Amino acid sequence: MKEEIIQAEKMKVVSEIAASVAHEVRNPLTSVRGFIQLMSDPALSDRKRQQFSSITLEELDRAESIISDYLSLAKPQIESLEPIALGEALTKASQILSSYANLQNVEIVTDMNHSATIYGSKSKFRQAIINIGKNAIEAMPGGGILTIAYTVNESNQTVVITITDTGIGMNEEQLNRLGAPYYTTKDKGTGLGTMVIFSVIRGMNGKVEVSSKLGIGTTYFITLPLTQQS
Ligand code: ADP
Ligand code: MG
Repeated sequence: MKEEIIQAEKMKVVSEIAASVAHEVRNPLTSVRGFIQLMSDPALSDRKRQQFSSITLEELDRAESIISDYLSLAKPQIESLEPIALGEALTKASQILSSYANLQNVEIVTDMNHSATIYGSKSKFRQAIINIGKNAIEAMPGGGILTIAYTVNESNQTVVITITDTGIGMNEEQLNRLGAPYYTTKDKGTGLGTMVIFSVIRGMNGKVEVSSKLGIGTTYFITLPLTQQS
């Protein structure tokens, strides 16, 4: 119960921070603009030019991270809610994650051999899965295994998606802070990815549970209602 109240509190801020996220993207852009202006000075030393150029790239990367963790949700597109073939959607998400996984020596193992249909926005759902997978991959700096699977529960018409990593894991305090906007333990983290996960799954009448053990790994359990195929 207490957990639910905390979750609700975390969700309430999602809409409130949309504006602050836009601001977070605008900041690096403003600074990039300034540095490009400085770099046009012909008298600038090579050392300074190098320095400005690397700051510029870092700032652009930062804007890119914020956009990829969050802003695709804020696209002013007409939201289409539709039946989503779960196996297909998860396969697509894992394909998108595969090059990032390769880069970090992470193997993706999937088990998608059940027929299940859920309901919602395909793009938001995909973003939520990608955000979970991205965090999982980032939790395995020395490589590891990312497992994506789901089980259908006919009796209560739900599906449980499990996404497991063999990464660094989280302690109790980290688990409790998960989903709070701007909470990050990474140098270049945005602290927006998990917030988006919770908000999307909740919007689909689902729930997210996370279990984690330091040094062993983390599993996300996502429970969603099944829908009739149409
Ligand atoms: P970011 O990835 O930019 O830090 P997120 O909101 O995606 O922001 O994640 C917030 C924090 O939650 C991460 O910085 C990390 O500490 C923790 N976290 C999320 N997923 C995992 C995971 N699978 N394993 C370990 N820590 C995780
Ligand atoms: Mg993240």
